[in-house]
Amino acid sequence: MATCEIISVGTELLLGDILNTDAQFLSTELAKMGIGVVYQTTVGDNPERLKKALSIAAERSDIIITSGGLGPTPDDLTKEICCEFFDKKCFLHEESLDKMKQYFANKNIEMPESNVKQAMLPEGCTVFPNNNGTAPGCAMEKDGKHILVLPGPPRELTAMYYESAVPYLSQFSEKTIVSHQIRTFGIGESALAEKVKKYLDGENPTVAPYAKDGEALLRVTAMADDEESAEELMKPIIEKIFAEIGEFVYGIDMPNIETAVVNSLKQKGMVVATAESCTGGLVSQRITSVAGSSEVFQCGIVSYANNIKHQILGVNEDDLKNYGAVSEQVASQMAQGVLRLSGADVAVSVTGIAGPGSDGTNKPVGLSYIGLAAKDGTLFVKKLLTGHSGKNCREYNRYVNASNALNLVRLYLDGKI
Ligand code: ATP
Ligand code: MG
Repeated sequence: MATCEIISVGTELLLGDILNTDAQFLSTELAKMGIGVVYQTTVGDNPERLKKALSIAAERSDIIITSGGLGPTPDDLTKEICCEFFDKKCFLHEESLDKMKQYFANKNIEMPESNVKQAMLPEGCTVFPNNNGTAPGCAMEKDGKHILVLPGPPRELTAMYYESAVPYLSQFSEKTIVSHQIRTFGIGESALAEKVKKYLDGENPTVAPYAKDGEALLRVTAMADDEESAEELMKPIIEKIFAEIGEFVYGIDMPNIETAVVNSLKQKGMVVATAESCTGGLVSQRITSVAGSSEVFQCGIVSYANNIKHQILGVNEDDLKNYGAVSEQVASQMAQGVLRLSGADVAVSVTGIAGPGSDGTNKPVGLSYIGLAAKDGTLFVKKLLTGHSGKNCREYNRYVNASNALNLVRLYLDGKI
């Protein structure tokens, strides 16, 4: 059996300011995987003592897991010290930097320069993305010893443990670990957690909610002697979860909502077209990023200016004047216009205020109307308020608008509108 040592980093732990719940969580979970925790060490934010703790741990355990000290401040040094100890150079991991920038953008905050260091990672490491905060974690190996570096905040550590550490550690487990992602749209992470709360305390399978790109998902993970038995364990739980939240589910292990839409269009032998304003073609881009979308995608019109909305899509000029470009009337006519023009079976439109500037009216940034028109006469407009305004809201609003447009097509194809 592989042995493991947990090193909890943080002076506040030594001072008794906080309870070491990370170590408790890790010990409980590692035991479930058949990995024996043989030592727990706590060390302050002190480079020399941390180095010493690492060298002692590497002598007596196969796996070292650290928690804490991945923040942007100068006293957060865990990664740097681990790199030094394992003799690895650090490089700037662009993907993590982009993800971090997006994280700040979603919160409408400018990313401080000091955060860049969180995207510095050891060469040759396995990157553990952080979907609940900024600092990515990582795992690396040297001379048969493995080290996993995780963030301190329990919410971040727990999610990263299930998402990235478990798959990495499965090489040391005699058991087989299988997990499935139940992907949902139209429900927030906490509302989702509330609906399935009776399953969240399960030991095997475990069920954990996450938020990702404006969506919420549930990860169900089971451990058993073989894959088939793990699937057997999960099946009844997944069925029960479906009974509770099925209306929001767009797929299990589905990579994203655009793939769900393309698959569904293919199944029904239907073709879609788009008319976009504030999303500037993002809905088309996401549909066409799915391989094989040519079978189901007719065209996308980016009708940014009002005269194009009128001349190409036939949106009524008076309506544009009276209700404004961001209105139910215009969304509805944009969808009908592109439906007519393309001969597609279903058409979707987006018109909204992505921000940060307003559109010169008193309508709020983050407001949009998503229209759907179909050959069978269906006409539907959804009003959406993302609640995101301010300096960096644009990317988020555009992405979430596009997701909502895709979701509307999905709901139509499922017979829900
Ligand atoms: P940050 O980016 O927030 O600085 P970090 O990875 O550097 O994250 P720390 O600075 O060590 O982590 O800790 C941040 C907070 O996370 C602490 O103030 C504490 O609330 C919580 N935390 C850290 N370590 C633990 C632990 N072992 N058990 C429980 N909570 C912890
Ligand atoms: Mg910190």
